[in-house]
Amino acid sequence: MRILHKNEYLYAVEEETGYSLLGRGEAGKLRPHDTLIPKNEAKLMVPVNPSKIIAVGLNYRNHAQELNLPVPENPILFLKPLTALAGPGDKIQYPVSSQQVDYEGELAIVIGTKGRCIPEDQALEHIMGYTLANDITARDLQKKDGQWTRAKGFDGFCPVGPCVRTGIEPEELEFKTYLNAELCQHGKVSDFIFTIPRIIAFVSEVMTILPGDIILTGTPPGIGPVQPGDTVRIECEAIGVLENEIVKY
Ligand code: MG
Repeated sequence: MRILHKNEYLYAVEEETGYSLLGRGEAGKLRPHDTLIPKNEAKLMVPVNPSKIIAVGLNYRNHAQELNLPVPENPILFLKPLTALAGPGDKIQYPVSSQQVDYEGELAIVIGTKGRCIPEDQALEHIMGYTLANDITARDLQKKDGQWTRAKGFDGFCPVGPCVRTGIEPEELEFKTYLNAELCQHGKVSDFIFTIPRIIAFVSEVMTILPGDIILTGTPPGIGPVQPGDTVRIECEAIGVLENEIVKY
């Protein structure tokens, strides 16, 4: 995870009693050292510093049905601007130009090593780990514009966190999205239309992926609108909790 402590951005690992800082060891690899920052002295930030945020539009068969769209042959890609990023706990402003803003709970891939035209059988080697994201979307503007830049691109429309979970096999990963206390989405990697290696291969055939880049893997069925005052909470046992409140602009 990445924390803000006394005006400094620091990489750290969560311990029961605080955040244990990571320093650069041999070969520039991050490794833990002795400094422990108490949790009440740090703010959790977006866990990485990406060069781009790539997103897959439709990756669950049942979500395609929910939106009345055909199941795509290839992943549909779009980008979200870096200014859309928000950290765990950050408040998300409801834009004045939209009357329907939806949450989209998603699992996100975090890239570990640079690559271009990566074959599927080498894709997992380029992954640092996994995190959670909310691909917040102004649904009315998405329909009106015919493309998605404005609808998906507002400041704060991409909360990411709380940490990058490394060293896990993705096949078993699942997450749940709650609007306030109500369970709305249950996403499983095993329900993906496009596997994680397929997504990496497809994206990297188009653009070089760089360490820290984030790839949102699509949202399962159960999307719905938010209002100012609502809280969206995305939970994954292996990764943690990403929670953000929607507020008036
Ligand atoms: Mg999405």
